[in-house]
Amino acid sequence: MGLPFVEWIDDPKQLFVCAKCGTCLTGIKHLVSESFRGGTGTAYLFNHVINVNMTESIRRVMTTGTHWVRDIDCRYCNSRVGWFYEMALKEDQQYKEGHFILELALTKRIPGMVDIVAQKRMKSDAASSSGESGSSNNPSVSSLSFEEEKEDVTV
Ligand SMILES: [Zn+2]
Repeated sequence: MGLPFVEWIDDPKQLFVCAKCGTCLTGIKHLVSESFRGGTGTAYLFNHVINVNMTESIRRVMTTGTHWVRDIDCRYCNSRVGWFYEMALKEDQQYKEGHFILELALTKRIPGMVDIVAQKRMKSDAASSSGESGSSNNPSVSSLSFEEEKEDVTV
């Protein structure tokens, strides 16, 4: 069986993918704010997220007031990845409307094209988490495959 068609964000620096199945969700260029918190900890606000399904609109009271939100799930593995701000009742919170929260614990960051080169140079820890669900189609790349890729290019 082939992979389902997955949209991909064109971001040279950094991509955020579903932690479980590796589906592309957004890129760092769509990041609006890093100062959010979700149920699992740190969460980021984005103005563009793809490959997700939204639940029905839910009224939710948060630390910053009452909001109408929709939870968002990965379109391919149905894992919860965050939520979408549909409406904020407080005027000073309305900048969040139409934006998406991704919880960092539910997503994984992988380098875009520019960062692959940078990371190779830095030789920082190649600590790739040992994924729990072993999907071999995970598009995340290890530093080893960067080496291979470079060899391919320079031949
Ligand atoms: Zn997924």
